[in-house]
Amino acid sequence: MTLSYQSTRGGQKGITASQAVLQGLAEDGGLFMPTQIPKLDVSLEKLASMSYQETAYEVMKLFLTDYTEEELKNCIAKAYDSKFDTEEIVPLAKADGAYYLELFHGSTIAFKDMALSILPHLMTTAAKKNHADKEIVILTATSGDTGKAAMAGFADVPGTRIIVFYPKDGVSRVQELQMRTQKGENTCVVAIHGNFDDAQTGVKKLFGDEAFKAELAEKGFQFSSANSINIGRLVPQVVYYVYAYAKLLDNQEITMGDQINVVVPTGNFGNILAAYFAKQMGVPIKKLICASNDNKVLYDFFTTGTYDRNREFILTNSPSMDILISSNLERLIYLSAGCDAEKNAALMAELGTKGSYTITPEMKEKVADFWGGYATQEEDAAEIKRVFDDTGYLMDTHTGVASAVYKKYAEATGDTTRTVIASTASPYKFSHSVMEAIAGDQSSKEEFALIDEMSDLSGIPVPRAVEEIRHAPIRHNRECDVDSMKAEVADILGI
Ligand SMILES: *Cc1c(COP(=O)(O)O)cnc(C)c1O
Repeated sequence: MTLSYQSTRGGQKGITASQAVLQGLAEDGGLFMPTQIPKLDVSLEKLASMSYQETAYEVMKLFLTDYTEEELKNCIAKAYDSKFDTEEIVPLAKADGAYYLELFHGSTIAFKDMALSILPHLMTTAAKKNHADKEIVILTATSGDTGKAAMAGFADVPGTRIIVFYPKDGVSRVQELQMRTQKGENTCVVAIHGNFDDAQTGVKKLFGDEAFKAELAEKGFQFSSANSINIGRLVPQVVYYVYAYAKLLDNQEITMGDQINVVVPTGNFGNILAAYFAKQMGVPIKKLICASNDNKVLYDFFTTGTYDRNREFILTNSPSMDILISSNLERLIYLSAGCDAEKNAALMAELGTKGSYTITPEMKEKVADFWGGYATQEEDAAEIKRVFDDTGYLMDTHTGVASAVYKKYAEATGDTTRTVIASTASPYKFSHSVMEAIAGDQSSKEEFALIDEMSDLSGIPVPRAVEEIRHAPIRHNRECDVDSMKAEVADILGI
């Protein structure tokens, strides 16, 4: 069966998967959605005996229907290899009565590696299939983790360049060092004087700037996106939810047909949307618990039906979730509106002009699989300490938010369903905040001293990704204002 893709705002239809991957964002500013969410065509029993790579093929072939078997298997083999520090790719750690699905064993120690290890291969394959003759310029806004993972994926990939914008004071020290030491002749990093939403809005504006795109095309360039709005990010993320269920079966933690809950620390709504897709494909998932930090715009949305970005942007110790415009929510809105692009486009227009919109009671009914919760920075730190003291399991600040929200959910509902918590980063990526949570004030200590101390305390070896930046030279020093992003891109590309 062949799926095609269409914009959530109605402007583009009948797009193949490879075209959607190549293009990133739809021309009308909408996001690409498949005409339907396919059902798994292999049983969960069978999946239980499959490797991560085999599972990836079974899931991705259903969405990326114009890639050949050989092309897809090739992309998967190149992505999920020894860049990951464990053969399981995503281990499930059982601790404190839940299963922590560790999505941070890739080369940049955050869950973004799960999709960004494969996106460059999907994209270069798509370029070949569609006879694209232009150099692909990946424009990416990052709240800290996407930027590094995307550059690691695209570094020195022929026919591509990558430009990353990150909020200058909105990322952790390790995140910043990871990006500014990035190697690769085709990589470029710019710190913007603004927050993540400014970066993301700026990038979206460039995608919508027809005159600029025409000028670029003349010079032989074509934009694409490595942000989670790209369907090539979303599809690989569905895989690990299928894999997690199959592993729980294989390990006899659950029996066939048992439901599980999933908790996801959420920012741009990409990761949790992938879990929702897994549910639609047939994985027995009961509740999707959406965990926010102090920027609790999604908690408010799921409790009231009103999405309202008009509020103060709070910089927290879980910076990859410091977001007020969760782009991928648009895909859920579109689905809940019965795939009515016009209705969705009207709500998104309201978001653009007023900064808020309200869904109808019928639409709210359709998103009842989601439960919204949030944890403050203090609750997050307390949760990291509690779980570490009780069990010895050490988690990062984003996973801490999810874990704290899970506790609130269990208390509020009494639901005892087995629960998978998406663990989205290594504690080493947020060493300062994690050490403060478990060992008190660390303000006088240097980053790498703290990292060594964390290793002594937790017994977890310092990951390769952190050792790599300990002595690496800084290669990127660019900075710009929010309103000069376009000029910056032109300068980088030499046009
Ligand atoms: C990106 C990120 C998130 C948020 O994921 P979304 O898909 O944007 O919701 C959470 N935790 C970490 C560590 C991240 O890097």
